[in-house]
Amino acid sequence: MTIRTGEQYLDSIKSRSKVEIYVMGKEVKDVTTHPFLKPSVMAFKATYDAAWEEDTKDLARAWSPFINDEVNRFNHIHRSPDDLAAKVKLLRKLSHKTGACFQRCVGWDSLNTLWIMTNLMAQKGKTEYKDRFVEYLKYVQKNDLALAGAMTDVKGVRTLKPHQQPNKNAYVRIEEVTKDGIYVSGAKANITGVAATEEMVVLPTRAMGPEDKDYAVAFSVPTDSEGIKIIVGRQLNDARRLEGGDIDALPYFYNHEGLVIFDHVFVPMERVFLMGEYEYTSQLVEIFSAYHRQGYGGCKAGLGDVIIGASQNLAKQIGVEKASHVQEKLTEMIFLTETMYSAGIAASLNAVKLCDNCWWVNPMHANVTKHLVARFPAQISQLSIDIAGGIIGTAPSEWDLKNPKLKEYIAKYLQGVEGFTAEDRLRMVRLLENVSLGVAFQIESVHGAGSPAAQRIMFTRLYDLNYAEEIAKRLAGKKTDLKFKQGAEPWRESETEKFAKGS
Ligand code: SF4
Repeated sequence: MTIRTGEQYLDSIKSRSKVEIYVMGKEVKDVTTHPFLKPSVMAFKATYDAAWEEDTKDLARAWSPFINDEVNRFNHIHRSPDDLAAKVKLLRKLSHKTGACFQRCVGWDSLNTLWIMTNLMAQKGKTEYKDRFVEYLKYVQKNDLALAGAMTDVKGVRTLKPHQQPNKNAYVRIEEVTKDGIYVSGAKANITGVAATEEMVVLPTRAMGPEDKDYAVAFSVPTDSEGIKIIVGRQLNDARRLEGGDIDALPYFYNHEGLVIFDHVFVPMERVFLMGEYEYTSQLVEIFSAYHRQGYGGCKAGLGDVIIGASQNLAKQIGVEKASHVQEKLTEMIFLTETMYSAGIAASLNAVKLCDNCWWVNPMHANVTKHLVARFPAQISQLSIDIAGGIIGTAPSEWDLKNPKLKEYIAKYLQGVEGFTAEDRLRMVRLLENVSLGVAFQIESVHGAGSPAAQRIMFTRLYDLNYAEEIAKRLAGKKTDLKFKQGAEPWRESETEKFAKGS
């Protein structure tokens, strides 16, 4: 059972018991057949299929010393820089297979964050959290569970700390502690893929102070726990999935995000990994954010490849693929895509070891990766729209193409170069529209793993401006106290690295 097939994952998702999921105000009974959620479940399933398919299985499997067996990489604890690079490569590859966000990485990054954090806490004498976490990890790996990572709180008034909020549940908080566990209430927003998961790993979303003790909480719960409600958010073109066609909505793969309500949910003590230790929250957030920012270098580059391919095909369909301006645009799209990927690989290979077998991404490169991703997808999409032409916003529907009275006209007037049909054109236009303008490539690229301002804060924290100034002063012949650092980069150590060293 350690590495499940996609079909085993589907069977398990169907057998969840009390799971309460809503789409457009109505409760969903089976996410695997609901037209709105099925594409999302299929994208999640692709992460399971990857462990069995010839072209991906080497990337998608890894050896776990925790259970002394092979596991699906999505539940693996990174043990080297190469492991981190394999993550980025796997994500690029899976984007080729889904054309969507496949949603399983947030849970994966949450596991790796808790591994490091519980190790750092154990170094400071709090050993119970690491023991609990390792037991949980073994359970997840042995059963190859589908996890969501739930971090972003709804946050209420952004200028107020958790304990100052008029809504005392604006951040998920511990309401009650018993000898067996804790009860939590609140809500987590924008939770990727949550309706398609078996368990949620819940982490705090910001650094907290002593008065926010009740909000400094990390735990895991089954998605079908009593008191959890999932309200699935809307997306561009989502109602097309309810139409039942096979062109306009690309009903094969999609992602979804959900608002997750915790209404006095019980969490047994063995699943609690942080309970009031606010002094660890800052590092926890920094570790998680950098992990997820690194991953974007893989999945968004993979979506870039899909868009480049669709653009080239559309250019061929209308006979302009050799035009110099089209070649120039495709070249620019390649450059933007490979830049995002290069940054993700650099964040992996220049990884930082925070404790024994704790490999964290390079925080500067990871933040650069995400900042590039916040900018470049919009540029890639714009170039692809330029190549595709206005038809991307005006094409007839698949229902027009399927109407016997219109079919002939559409076949005649949508055709360009001989050998391509109107259906070829419509399919490629719809792919480009759905991928390049969808939530995964546009909105997620900006706000997922932290909005652009969060990365800019990290740049100024990590880059040693004064050191760079002293370098310049020396070369300009000015008096300077410059002492060259050991490394090539004018960087400071991150707070997390200092914390790990106990400095
Ligand atoms: Fe994974 Fe990318 Fe989706 Fe995040 S945005 S869950 S890294 S596919």
